[in-house]
Amino acid sequence: MCRQSVKPGGRPAVPVSRYERQIRCGAFGQKGQQLMEQATFLVIGAGALGSAVSEQLTRAGAGRLVICDMDIVEVSNLHRQSCYTEADAADHLLKVIALKNHLQNINGDSEIFTHTEEVTSLNIEALIRRYTPTIVIDGTDAFSTRFLINEACHKHQIPWVYGACLGTKGTVLGIDHSGPCLKCLLLEDQSTGQDCSIAGILPPAAHLSASMQVAEIMNYMATGQFSQQLITFDTQTMRFQQTKADRLKNPACETCGQDRYHLLQRQLENVVKLCGGKYMIRLNAERFTSTKLNFQKSSLHFKYYQDKQYQISFFHDGRVIISGAANQQQAEHIVNQML
Ligand SMILES: [Zn+2]
Repeated sequence: MCRQSVKPGGRPAVPVSRYERQIRCGAFGQKGQQLMEQATFLVIGAGALGSAVSEQLTRAGAGRLVICDMDIVEVSNLHRQSCYTEADAADHLLKVIALKNHLQNINGDSEIFTHTEEVTSLNIEALIRRYTPTIVIDGTDAFSTRFLINEACHKHQIPWVYGACLGTKGTVLGIDHSGPCLKCLLLEDQSTGQDCSIAGILPPAAHLSASMQVAEIMNYMATGQFSQQLITFDTQTMRFQQTKADRLKNPACETCGQDRYHLLQRQLENVVKLCGGKYMIRLNAERFTSTKLNFQKSSLHFKYYQDKQYQISFFHDGRVIISGAANQQQAEHIVNQML
């Protein structure tokens, strides 16, 4: 049943008809709605996919969303990340803070939890144990994190929805414990040199990917399973392709065939190349308070510096994201010299 609430001090009671139009869709129905309101969704990444999925789930009456992202809103995000504004970018707001503000204005009944730290082998299992998510959503743009999600979700038997988009294309697959996993489909090394800063990304490719992810989630709420189809599409040619997921299962797969989870045990690298020609460098968290650099923006969780060549974002947990460096060596040198 749709929940009704009366918030003291202003917000009116939720009208009975709030979810009526989606409940009327027989494929989703009352049962899907009920489960949606009881569900917890762990959204890893709050970029184009994660923010759009979070918005749709909140509008659909999701009970609880846990959103993890470490980035700030940037002007170059705004053409495709529709939950963020110019004011968010001007304030260098953390995406999770901007997104939570946005979502709370959409549906006050959805509980929103945010985490500003990076999701890694050190914390992903703790997040899963703490929140026991019904479904995990891939909102990342990094294959290293996707394969980590793949291992964690297989180990803890949590269904998850893979989503990826680049240029005019997108790919979506709902992955559960019985079917093929991401490693059955793809090699772990997906470093093709192509990312959204090189190949670009059109808003419809991102939004369609996010919508297909939400469609899979709603399928799961209504029926207890995903569509069992790998969906790929190109918004330029308007070609959609679907492949039966069970054909993709690799019985010898290290993750889903042998229950081996090497990424969950892997030590973190100190320097990581990110989408957009940026580098992330992990420093000791104490440097966040001891640094003497004259930052243009400074808050409890975040500091920002910009000159003619470099942009440096410094997070409270010691992560530094630098853009403008020609290569990894230069990125490390500049960060160690300046911070
Ligand atoms: Zn597999």
